[in-house]
Amino acid sequence: MGPDWYCDEVIPGRADVEVLVRTANTLAFRPPLPGFGVDHVIVIPIGHVSSLLELDDDLALELLATVKAVARQAVDRHGGCQVLTTLGDEQHNRHLHWHVAVGEGVARFVRRG
Ligand SMILES: [Zn+2]
Repeated sequence: MGPDWYCDEVIPGRADVEVLVRTANTLAFRPPLPGFGVDHVIVIPIGHVSSLLELDDDLALELLATVKAVARQAVDRHGGCQVLTTLGDEQHNRHLHWHVAVGEGVARFVRRG
């Protein structure tokens, strides 16, 4: 397990992030170094959850509501966004996090037919 920037820095308030939404158990913020070209919001549970596969159903509802609120803002402002989480070898920080992503860096799918 690698470092956990969310538990170590973001949740204790030691990271320079712009908080957009805070609920009892979730947090949505813009990171200091965005990973996407136009906008990048990260949504996390405040208590440690290692990945989507470990997320319990009650917290899933609260977390998805926060993702939805942030995604609605992105759609209203930018016309669209991509919402994603990573798992296994694709998950570089072992604290469940969702990306609400706009612009360069979002996944593009292969068109068939
Ligand atoms: Zn954590």
